[in-house]
Amino acid sequence: MTPDTPAPVGHGARLTVDLAAIAENWRRLGAQGPGTPCAAVVKADAYGCGLAPVASALWRAGCRTFFVAHLTEGAAVRRALSEAAIYVLNGLPPGGADAFLRDNLRPVLGSHDELDAWAAASQGAHGAALHVDTGMNRLGFSVPEALALRADPRIRAAGIDLVMSHLVSAELPEDPVNTRQIRDFAAARAAFPEIPASLANSSGIFLGTAAHHDLLRPGYALFGGNPTPGRPNPMRPVVRLEAEIVQVRAVEAGAGAGYNHRWVAPGPRRLATLSLGYADGYPRAASGRGHALVGEVLCPILGLISMDLIILDVTEAPDARRGATAVLIGDALDVDTVGRAAGTIGYEILTGLGSRYVRTYIE
Ligand SMILES: *Cc1c(COP(=O)(O)O)cnc(C)c1O
Repeated sequence: MTPDTPAPVGHGARLTVDLAAIAENWRRLGAQGPGTPCAAVVKADAYGCGLAPVASALWRAGCRTFFVAHLTEGAAVRRALSEAAIYVLNGLPPGGADAFLRDNLRPVLGSHDELDAWAAASQGAHGAALHVDTGMNRLGFSVPEALALRADPRIRAAGIDLVMSHLVSAELPEDPVNTRQIRDFAAARAAFPEIPASLANSSGIFLGTAAHHDLLRPGYALFGGNPTPGRPNPMRPVVRLEAEIVQVRAVEAGAGAGYNHRWVAPGPRRLATLSLGYADGYPRAASGRGHALVGEVLCPILGLISMDLIILDVTEAPDARRGATAVLIGDALDVDTVGRAAGTIGYEILTGLGSRYVRTYIE
């Protein structure tokens, strides 16, 4: 995965986003549910990968339905894709109906207030989803509330064209909450037999067809995250983050490195300083725990990550020299691994990708 445009001269770290891999991941996820359409969740700037290029690439691959979290994100998808069906997961904010109508966005309605407002504003001429809360206790109508809406005229008046819910622990297939949610969602959606239904996020797709219904709804796995933790990642990697070595130095035993000398050399070592820090979106929480690849060698991050710089131990990496490239995300360092090193999940690594990187998209 090499960018076909040469990297500009300078010290900006390089982020390469493989749009062909995103399209291939979308096809692979769709293949888990043959005959069931596959949507794409592109909230948070398409998980940090860039909303407009990602949405356009998915559209070219055949994706027709998109989910975002906010109205502003929906408007951005609309600017890129005039024909797509766009659902806004966080629902209809007070006074927001006109903006939804203007951009032909479909709110995911989760309360009587939202349902009333949208039915009145849209007059059934625009789509919307009905959100059923099957366990998250976050957004949506409870299952009994949803069942009570069975014959409610507002379902038609609000143009409900999707009934959906969200899984609590889809990435933990043994968690009994999955079975309960799959059962309760099946009961809730049965109240609306004419309306398509959607339950499965990335990991939910791998829980089997009982979770699939009429529309798959992956996000993370499109961007290379592993939807089946503990098993080999079936997705293609999407993101590659590289930074340049600014300087290499030798230190003796007892020398401290970085702020507060959080690391002290246990013996003679070679250190390399990388042009990338937490201000770029690389998590400071990976201080003393994360790694970068120099050549084929996994080099530990030493001491505290600075705002613009990271110190690596390159004692074992013969390729380390000024101007050489280190890989922070890519190859053995997939987003899940980087997330673990920072005490978080790959989702947060992706959505935290900074705007300071020099970005390259490859098709
Ligand atoms: C974010 C989100 C998704 C996508 O989940 P992934 O785990 O990223 O695949 C699907 N549905 C809802 C409601 C979400 O908030």
